[in-house]
Amino acid sequence: MRILVVEDEKKIAEFIRRGLKEEGYAVDMAHDGEEGLFLAKTNDYDLVLLDLMLPKLDGLTLCKKLKGAKIKTPVIMLTAKNTVKEKVMGLDSGADDYLTKPFAFEELLARIRAMLRKKDARTPTKLKAADLELDLLTHKVIRGSREIELTTKEFSLLEYLMRNEGTIVTRTMISEHVWDIDFDTFTNVIDVYINYLRNKVDSGSKKKLIHTVRGRGYILKEE
Ligand code: CA
Repeated sequence: MRILVVEDEKKIAEFIRRGLKEEGYAVDMAHDGEEGLFLAKTNDYDLVLLDLMLPKLDGLTLCKKLKGAKIKTPVIMLTAKNTVKEKVMGLDSGADDYLTKPFAFEELLARIRAMLRKKDARTPTKLKAADLELDLLTHKVIRGSREIELTTKEFSLLEYLMRNEGTIVTRTMISEHVWDIDFDTFTNVIDVYINYLRNKVDSGSKKKLIHTVRGRGYILKEE
């Protein structure tokens, strides 16, 4: 899951970025409205966290422009003032939810999870493929009766593969949803992580779930 954070206050931006990365999200940052709009239009984000008061282009205008450009990425608006007028303006501009600053990080995480669930209504809190089960809330991964320990990056990659079960995902798709903008597409990092996952998820099980599709990418499916 890749999130764009548009926030000009450096301290808050850094607090959000660090917290989201710890949870395994890929995070890109924009520090003004114009940069935020540019990134949101050029990358395929799963969610945008948008501050209301921003230099160059304010959050309301940015949100309207996004929706006007038919970009369906859900937006959570971060507002400093908790007034009805601001909330109404935010929702009118096309924001899907709002959160008043200061907020507890746990609440932000809960809102993000709720939004990502809503975005993909087929996604319950657990993803299942054959005897593999991934719990999005507790981050527990189980294959048969065996619990699998994954790093946050491995977890994000497996989550992405499972959300796309039965569909080929290319390295570009993986890099766009699991890594952030600083990712160097010319490295073999994705292949390395796929191998880590294979060792943890597939080895020891008769049925292999993670398959390479030569020249195209990867697919998670039962054979
Ligand atoms: Ca601000």
